[in-house]
Amino acid sequence: MALPDPIKLAQVLNPPQSLIEFSARFRTETDCEEFLFRVRYPEGFVCPRCAVERGWSLDGKRLVECSNGHKVSLTAGTVLHGSRQGLLTWFHAVLFIATLTPGISALQFQRQLGLKRYETAFQMLHKVRASLVVPGRELLHREVEVDETFIGGKDPDRDGRGGDKVLVVGGIEVRPFSKPKTGKRRERAGRLRLRVVADASANSLSGFVEQEIQPGAIVHTDGWDGYRRLKRSGYVHQRTVQGKGRNVTHILPHIHRVFSNLKAWLQGTHHGRIEPKYLQAYLDEYTFRFNRRFWPGPAFLRALTLMVRTKHKI
Ligand SMILES: [Zn+2]
Repeated sequence: MALPDPIKLAQVLNPPQSLIEFSARFRTETDCEEFLFRVRYPEGFVCPRCAVERGWSLDGKRLVECSNGHKVSLTAGTVLHGSRQGLLTWFHAVLFIATLTPGISALQFQRQLGLKRYETAFQMLHKVRASLVVPGRELLHREVEVDETFIGGKDPDRDGRGGDKVLVVGGIEVRPFSKPKTGKRRERAGRLRLRVVADASANSLSGFVEQEIQPGAIVHTDGWDGYRRLKRSGYVHQRTVQGKGRNVTHILPHIHRVFSNLKAWLQGTHHGRIEPKYLQAYLDEYTFRFNRRFWPGPAFLRALTLMVRTKHKI
């Protein structure tokens, strides 16, 4: 099922733009049910049993009733289904992850929402962050920096033998512009993609580029062999080989800045304690916020829309 246009949906639903607005708008389970009903059925409800086009959510029951009296679950087929936690708690999880710059740790979330078990808090946050990839999203284009880095392990700054190190490849658009007065070339970062890969082979690294970046784009990488086939794959491949004594920040500055901020976030909010099997979901959370860093308002609605898509696995 295609996702509704986020801008049109935001115009209709007018999602909260601040914590104050959020708290004023969502006070009870019924408030959340009514909002969720409109997010889930943006084109209007159609009863799956009798096809009648009139229905409404029933107070506090997470059910939708059609005008012929059929009852349908409001959360069936979504990650919210079967959860014993209230929708108000779920809405807070979505708000914190989608809009707070540092996100939130499971421990903080457990305390702030008064949840009994840490595991419950962790699973809720995981389900939100694992929902955040927009299906069929556009490829990165024009000019992109690509590089890879290790996350985790005993000493992430050293190439030594640490446990549980995971290789992550990232691509970020570079958007050149000229300064109005001087006409000097400057660059700003565009959209980001991050992916856990098994190794630094050509299949993993060039494979990432081929799946995430539009052919014909200029792709900047370092001199590593894993990127050698990009020219054959239809990219304008710009390799910068790092010379001796050359400052590493001078090459691929945008993706290096992302890696360093990503690691600071994982250390800061999450204390670096992330199991490799969950890392991709954290990368998706980071990417979701990064790509919406100038538009925090619609991010809450977008995240909620992604969560009530049906038929996705966590
Ligand atoms: Zn019906």
